[in-house]
Amino acid sequence: MKIEYYAVFGQPISHSKSPRIHKLFADQTSQLMDYSAQEVPADTFTVATNHFFAEGGKGLNCTVPLKELAWQYAHQLTERARLAKAVNTLVCQADGSILGDNTDGTGLLNDLIVNHCIALKGVRILILGAGGATRGIVPPLLEQKPSALVIVNRNVGKAQAIATDFAALGPVQTCDYASLIDQQFDLIINATSASLSGDLPPLPPALLSAGGSCYDLAYANQVTAFVKWGLANNATHSLDGLGMLVEQAAEAFYLWRGIRPNTAPVIELLNDERKLSSTN
Ligand code: NDP
Repeated sequence: MKIEYYAVFGQPISHSKSPRIHKLFADQTSQLMDYSAQEVPADTFTVATNHFFAEGGKGLNCTVPLKELAWQYAHQLTERARLAKAVNTLVCQADGSILGDNTDGTGLLNDLIVNHCIALKGVRILILGAGGATRGIVPPLLEQKPSALVIVNRNVGKAQAIATDFAALGPVQTCDYASLIDQQFDLIINATSASLSGDLPPLPPALLSAGGSCYDLAYANQVTAFVKWGLANNATHSLDGLGMLVEQAAEAFYLWRGIRPNTAPVIELLNDERKLSSTN
């Protein structure tokens, strides 16, 4: 057996936990593979990706700011990636063609439903933000048949474009932050990048229903501003995106290797490690 090569491309990339996650998956499932992180700016994406696959690379993850470029690059797209207009996983297939997929939505759903038993059917869901991540999570959330799915964004036009693109899958409402007053939701998902700069979108009090939950797609060594907001508003669960990160990686690993790793010990280990690093 010879070693097979995988990588994550993005910019910045030095903070990426993906090499560590895939190393843990490979050890757990006895796969002979190498997974590296490479700093790739958008203007060199095509050259770098051509080179990676020409050298025999088997699969790539693409993160900020490359997901849309990866969507354009792929020869074929899965249905969920086609809808998302963003690709986070490229797979070199047996005939050398490149398949693009988006595993973010499945990653979120697995963390919400499987890991934390948070129900989505018949609940009112609010998504903050209308960027690439929102495009990835809207289709699988609609499949769960929430009673309402609302996207709020500073630039409402971007939210409306998503609602239009996904109209065939189910109803998506849109609004601006001022219109959130007097509304209530059972699950609030922060898909803005505000947490990355320690910011919080403007949320009115009483936005979260009694017994509701909050989920921040962002993750950091410290508790994010949105997770703090959830805790202060008595959320049953107020979680960050570390579990989603591991789950979307597991889905990519499955696409590449045909084996589903056990995510629970990996999430636990990464959580323990960041607790340690935040106390040091
Ligand atoms: P984009 O840059 O595509 O979109 C960012 C969105 O955030 C926009 O809708 C923007 O609004 C909004 N925004 C930024 N700052 C603020 C603010 N201060 N207040 C209100 N809204 C704000 O980013 P992505 O969609 O790619 O990523 C979003 C988040 O999801 C990031 O934190 C990313 O790390 C995380 N993520 C996590 C994953 C995981 O596995 N855990 C996977 C994918 C993403 P506007 O359009 O009005 O400018």
